[in-house]
Amino acid sequence: MVAPERAAIARIATALDLPSFDKGTVWLAGAGPGDPGLITALGLHAVAAADAILYDALVNAALLKLARPGAELIYAGKRGGRRSCRQSDISHRLVSLARKGKRVLRLKGGDPLMFGRGAEEALALAHAGIAFRIVPGVTAGIGGLAYAGIPVTHRDANHVVTFVTGHGADGKLPRLDWSAIARGSPTLVLYMARQHAGEIAARLIAAGRDQAEPAAVVSNASLMNQNVVVTTLAGLAAAAAGSTAPAMLVIGQNVALRDGMDWIAGEVLRPPHQPLRDAS
Ligand code: SAH
Repeated sequence: MVAPERAAIARIATALDLPSFDKGTVWLAGAGPGDPGLITALGLHAVAAADAILYDALVNAALLKLARPGAELIYAGKRGGRRSCRQSDISHRLVSLARKGKRVLRLKGGDPLMFGRGAEEALALAHAGIAFRIVPGVTAGIGGLAYAGIPVTHRDANHVVTFVTGHGADGKLPRLDWSAIARGSPTLVLYMARQHAGEIAARLIAAGRDQAEPAAVVSNASLMNQNVVVTTLAGLAAAAAGSTAPAMLVIGQNVALRDGMDWIAGEVLRPPHQPLRDAS
């Protein structure tokens, strides 16, 4: 029997004339930063139609409940104390499931191409001759910050925004021209930067950024345990040390706009991330 929710999603897919999820293909989709309402219509359609879903730790468990009965749910994340799945293993798995004729959904937190290794997976699929589709998602650095009342642009605050990862492939702070970043962009949005927040702030201040400029740490954006700490560049390290993962760091006058834009205060948010595990 078809669950009514999945039938409703199928009707929406038809009404919007969404593409069919063909057997033997892979869709690389973003699930948004946490609130399940932030997945796209295409993403939802893919969840309801997939035969196999490889999902990350930051994907909201509520979305997986919409998978078809018997769909393979495969945990491919690296949080919750489990060893990191090797990227090459994940790509191999995507290829082998597609070759078995399955509709394979690779579901990632946020947007699949924003610091999410979606491009590596897409290239591996292309190399293997597997047809794929990319379904963009709401990235934490834009949509997550919107839930904190922090706009990534405002014409009085910035005409440039820079997205940075604070975590290189080796786990260290990436070797970047921090002085150019400090001078080139009034607003910096940093992913995976909690650990190296102190070093990042020190480099930016050394390059001339005002240590009193507004900064914020936004944890668990769009979820019930969302936590926003507003501080200064000088206070960023301490705020990051006291925060929980996942967290975004933001530096710039945009943070000050939160005073009038904190729409979420008083809203009921969604339950926090469930510790996702291998559900297969
Ligand atoms: N592809 C994802 C990012 C993956 S990297 C995206 O587009 O959002 C993982 C990092 O994203 C985390 O370390 C954290 O910096 C950020 N992140 C993801 N979800 C978040 C959330 N709900 N709240 C705060 N930060 C989040």
